[in-house]
Amino acid sequence: MFFFGTGAAEMVPNPFCDCPVCERARQSGETPRKRSAMMVDEHCMFDFGPEVAAASQMYGRPLNQLTDVFITHTHEDHFSFSSFDILTMTNTWAGKCLNVWLSPGGLEWVQGYLRAMETICGEKAEFARLLESDAVALREARPYEWGEAGDKRFFAVESNHGLHAQREHALNYLLEMPHGELVLYVCDAGLWPEKNFAALAGARAQTLVMECTFGSQDIGVDWSHLNAAHFAQMVERMEKEGVITPETRVYATHINQVQHFSHAQLQAWFDAHCAHPVTVAQDGMEI
Ligand SMILES: [Zn+2]
Ligand SMILES: [Zn+2]
Repeated sequence: MFFFGTGAAEMVPNPFCDCPVCERARQSGETPRKRSAMMVDEHCMFDFGPEVAAASQMYGRPLNQLTDVFITHTHEDHFSFSSFDILTMTNTWAGKCLNVWLSPGGLEWVQGYLRAMETICGEKAEFARLLESDAVALREARPYEWGEAGDKRFFAVESNHGLHAQREHALNYLLEMPHGELVLYVCDAGLWPEKNFAALAGARAQTLVMECTFGSQDIGVDWSHLNAAHFAQMVERMEKEGVITPETRVYATHINQVQHFSHAQLQAWFDAHCAHPVTVAQDGMEI
């Protein structure tokens, strides 16, 4: 597994921002954070934001064997039409199909967006052409049911991160690898509703990758996103319910620049405050 990006929508540093956090990130030599996306293996990714194609080049990880992309939700940092549209200019893709998994609400939003684009512009969007040519297929990931994707199985739960007037809820995915390893990707999340702990109780995932968007920041709400304290709370509860075990490898991702911790400070916070070891992920990190 490989982190293409570990930032939230603003990236770190935010290219437009000259706040102390962004200036420190520029001057300290800290690895910049692109929008969050993770390559599970050559066939499979979590999320497909605006930097995925550039990250593929940067890290020498081509996307030519990709068969399945699990989209958590359609916020632009996680789902970028332009990243997919390169396929309209890829002759060697003939005969291949990229399955794009979305929640029922996310699927509806994409289809509505493409219809609206055609109405407004009088021609189909590039992404609609990809669907017509079967280069890409939209697939519904039904929450709280097992699904199959190539050589893997997955179980999605609805997180506490809503969008499009709450018609879409972000999905967090438990992915079962061919050799049985379970990977839990929790991005974007907020504190989970009770039913998610019940649905995944006893799963004993070996790897957990979870958002820590607001790090040091007290955000005043327990929905939408997690800060470091929420993150620790989620880990503790997941361990109590057997969603993860004391041996589970835990990584923090999707970190923004509104919170003021540097990478090292966030790592130190986890080392001091979280009973379960947590590694703060970085772009380009292999796990
Ligand atoms: Zn996000
Ligand atoms: Zn989001």
